[in-house]
Order: sequence, then structure tokens, then C-alpha cells
Amino acid sequence: MVIYSSFFWIFEQPQYDLGEYVYGKKTIVLDLDETLIHSCSKEPAHYDHLINFRDNGQSYRMYIQKRPGVDTFLKELSKMFEICIFTASTKEYADPIIDKLSISIPHSHRFYRNHCTIKSGMYIKDLSRFNRPISSILLIDNSPVSVKFQPENGIICKTWTGGRNDRELTSRLLPTLFWVFIIINWKALVVICSCQSLDMDVNHLIIAWICRIMS
Ligand SMILES: [Mg+2]
Repeated sequence: MVIYSSFFWIFEQPQYDLGEYVYGKKTIVLDLDETLIHSCSKEPAHYDHLINFRDNGQSYRMYIQKRPGVDTFLKELSKMFEICIFTASTKEYADPIIDKLSISIPHSHRFYRNHCTIKSGMYIKDLSRFNRPISSILLIDNSPVSVKFQPENGIICKTWTGGRNDRELTSRLLPTLFWVFIIINWKALVVICSCQSLDMDVNHLIIAWICRIMS
């Protein structure tokens, strides 16, 4: 009975349709809060946008701060990869923020709390549901919980809550993704970024891999 249920559970999982797959093109799925932006209901000393939205019959006003370098990060990434946003927040909250990003994210590439898989009260982002080869998808998120189902397809970035000196997007993630987005597979990329999180100098490692592959 358990086997029977599990068998049909697999086919009952909704698939997330990103449209036609361009062979070889990789997809980067980006978290929103504390990865690209930070929001708060109390007016901070500095903010970039103010959004108003209604959710469950309640009105909300949120102040949005953009993570330093987020505009450049998104513009450069979009030249190399297919980009999606996957947030554990609601559509009502997230859409006005996504609309203000420096690149246009079509609605077919936006995923919200209702797309997460809830397990033991945690919101997990299941990358296997996208109609893309799992080897071509990478999730960048500040929460390790989000990548619980496919940890080898996730890069955990530093949580950002408003500091202006943060350089995570442009100094750590973007250069790494730029140099290795074709020649090194995601698994190796995750290892590199994990090393960087530990403040290990991995430039020599990247160069060694590139030389080995190109030789
Ligand atoms: Mg987050």
C-alpha cells in the first residue's frame, strides 16, 4: 500500500513549466528575501522602494532595501543564464518587489510560498519539479532549508539584512559564476562556493581546474 501510494505521489506532483528548454542553457533560481533584498515594516534610515499590498484581507506597507550590487548582479546573470525567482513569501508580497528588479522576470518564472513543499513546518524548494534537467538548475538562497531536497544544486549565500558594505553578490557570487558557468559542473561550483563561505582562498583551485580542463 505504501509502495502504491508513493508510486502515484510521484506523478501527482505538479510540474513547474518554464517553457521550452534551450539545450545546454542553465537555469539559476534565486531566492528573494535576505538574498536579493531586505524588507521591513518600520521605516529604515535608507530604503529603495515602498510597496503597498493586500494579503488575506489585510493591508500592508513594506520598505524595501536592495542588496548592494543586486542590479548589476541580475543584469550580468541574465546574459548567461535563464533566471527564476523562487520565494517562500506570498505572491501578493513578492510580485510588487519582483516588478522593481533591474531585469524583467516573466510571471512564468516566478514561484512563491504555495510552490514550496512543506515538511516539518519548513518551506523547501524542490528543484526536481521544474521542466528542466536537474543537472542544469542551481538555487541561490540564504537558507540551507530551501535546498534540503537537492543540496548539490544549491549555493547558500550570506544572509543580508541591510548592511551597506556587503559585497556578496558582486564580489563573491558573480565572478565565480562567470568564470565557471560552462566548464565546471554545478557540483564543483557548490564546492567552490562552500569553500568561499569558509573564507578559504580557492582562486588557485579554480585556475587549476580550468587549466586541467582546457589542456
Ligand atoms: Mg531568503
